[in-house]
Amino acid sequence: MTEQQARQQLIDIASSLFQRGYATGSAGNMSLLLDDNTILATPTGSCLGRLQPNDLSKLTLSGEFISGKKPSKEVKFHLGLYNNNPKCKAVVHLHSLYLTALSCLQDLNHQNAIKPFTPYVVMRMGNVPVIPYYKPGDIRIATDLASLALNHQAFLLANHGAVTIGENLEEATNNYEELEETAKLIFILKDQKINYLTEDEINELRK
Ligand SMILES: [Zn+2]
Repeated sequence: MTEQQARQQLIDIASSLFQRGYATGSAGNMSLLLDDNTILATPTGSCLGRLQPNDLSKLTLSGEFISGKKPSKEVKFHLGLYNNNPKCKAVVHLHSLYLTALSCLQDLNHQNAIKPFTPYVVMRMGNVPVIPYYKPGDIRIATDLASLALNHQAFLLANHGAVTIGENLEEATNNYEELEETAKLIFILKDQKINYLTEDEINELRK
C-alpha cells in the first residue's frame, strides 16, 4: 500500500466510524504504521468524520514530528504500543458509548474486563485488561499500555474509553467494533442470568 492509499484508508475508516456513531465531536484518535516505519495519526482536536488526507500527522516511532497537523496528545500511547509489539500496525482509540460506560463501572476485573459469553472476543482479542484512570495524555497511559502490548489486542481505559490494535487498520477497526458490540450486550443482559462460556470452551477457542 502506498502512503497516499494509507492516508485515504485512514480517513475513510475514521469517517465510517464517525458516521456510525462510534465517535462524536472531536473525540478519539487512530493511527497506522507505514512500510518505512513512520506513523500516520489523526491530528489533535480533529473530528474523525471530516479529515482530509493531508491533515494527518506524520511522526517517527520515537515521536518526532515530520509533517501535517499537530498530533493528538494521546499519540504517546500509540507509540508505546507500536514500540512494544512488532505485530502492531494500527491503533484505534475511541470513546464509544458502551465501552466508555463499561469503563466507568466499579469492580471490573482488571486482568480481563469482559468475562467471555460469546466466542468472538476470545478468538479475536483474548483478555481485555483495564488500565487505571489517568488524566488524558498522561504518560502513564502509555507506559501501562506498553507493558501489556505484546500479549493483548484490546484494552479498556478506566473512565475514558477503549483501545484496540491490529496487524492492519481493518483488523484494529474490526476488533474495536466487536468489542463495542460486546459491551452493548453486557448492558442489554445486565439483569439476566448470562450463560458464560466454560473454561474448556474458552481454552478450545484460544488454541
Ligand atoms: Zn481518549
